[in-house]
Amino acid sequence: TMAKEGSNLELRDLGNTGLKVSCVGFGASPLGRVFGPVSEEEAIASVRQAFRLGINFFDTSPYYGATLSETMLGKALEALNAPRDQFIVSTKCGRYVDGFDFTADRVTKSIDESLARLGLDYVDILHCHDIEFADLDQIVEETIPALQKLKEEGKIRFVGVSGLPLEVFSYVIDRVAPGSVDVILSYCHYGINDDTLEGMLPYLKSKGVGVISASPLAMGLLTDNGPPEWHPASAELKSACKAASAHCREKGKNISKLAMQYSLSNKDISTVLVGMNSVKQVEENVAAVVELATLGRREEEILQEVGAILQPVKNQTWPSGMQKS
Ligand code: NAD
Ligand code: MG
Repeated sequence: TMAKEGSNLELRDLGNTGLKVSCVGFGASPLGRVFGPVSEEEAIASVRQAFRLGINFFDTSPYYGATLSETMLGKALEALNAPRDQFIVSTKCGRYVDGFDFTADRVTKSIDESLARLGLDYVDILHCHDIEFADLDQIVEETIPALQKLKEEGKIRFVGVSGLPLEVFSYVIDRVAPGSVDVILSYCHYGINDDTLEGMLPYLKSKGVGVISASPLAMGLLTDNGPPEWHPASAELKSACKAASAHCREKGKNISKLAMQYSLSNKDISTVLVGMNSVKQVEENVAAVVELATLGRREEEILQEVGAILQPVKNQTWPSGMQKS
């Protein structure tokens, strides 16, 4: 394989898949205008710049922007005109704008629709999207077996599951045949304000399951612009993150850069998936990673100050999915 010019990003093993994934991945939900407007030109340019700088992993879902994210990513990947084995694409199934449906029938149809929008013959990974909203026994008994068939047909290479509460991962992995869940996608659980995924890493490693950790910026909480209107965090968590970002600004630092570097420094996480919708964000996030690799350490002093501000809300999350009564 040719080394790409200007590529500075470390590649990591994704569990037992054999995939070599860049330590930062491109989250394409913003391309579905989930975080505000983005033009087609900017979307295409962002993906091109990401790929040029060494990002080889792109994640989307039919749910993001009601299929717009997949369509935009498809256009951007086509414009790349790169050999198919040089980039890794994941999309999802089971969560749609019209609701959740993890039946074998629906997920088998939805991959064909996703492939058409993406302009691809196969995706590298198909995730069951936000399984805490499903009957987990259906995921085990119906959805995962349906995805094994898609593997055999060559429409997908690997199977993943995504969700917010961490317990859903072990529930499913402990009940399926070894090797039938290749990766998990966790979000908002390995960052400055919440690092609860860490406790699960030894288990996932022992199962040979690859770990994708998404939302290092806590879906906008750890940015100067702050979170979108729909963000599910409590008012307390939102205001603590706002105070933390203000503190960073006062010290001439940037909360997003600090957050990226924090999430990147655990090598048991294969890739950190950050949502981006501009060339500027791509360049800033890659620069943060390159700086971390060059320095070989995080900025502990400012991290400690931010940690103190976030202490009262440390590991605070929010409800997602079917709640146990
Ligand atoms: P994130 O924490 O990556 O934050 C994204 C937000 O931060 C966007 O508004 C983006 O424009 C902004 N941003 C990015 N870089 C920035 C920078 N340098 N400075 C300032 N702002 C910056 O949250 P996310 O996008 O929700 O998560 C990343 C990706 O992970 C998603 O796009 C999606 O692909 C995936 N994901 C999946 C699930 C799931 O499967 N349930 C859940 C969450 C995320
Ligand atoms: Mg989501």
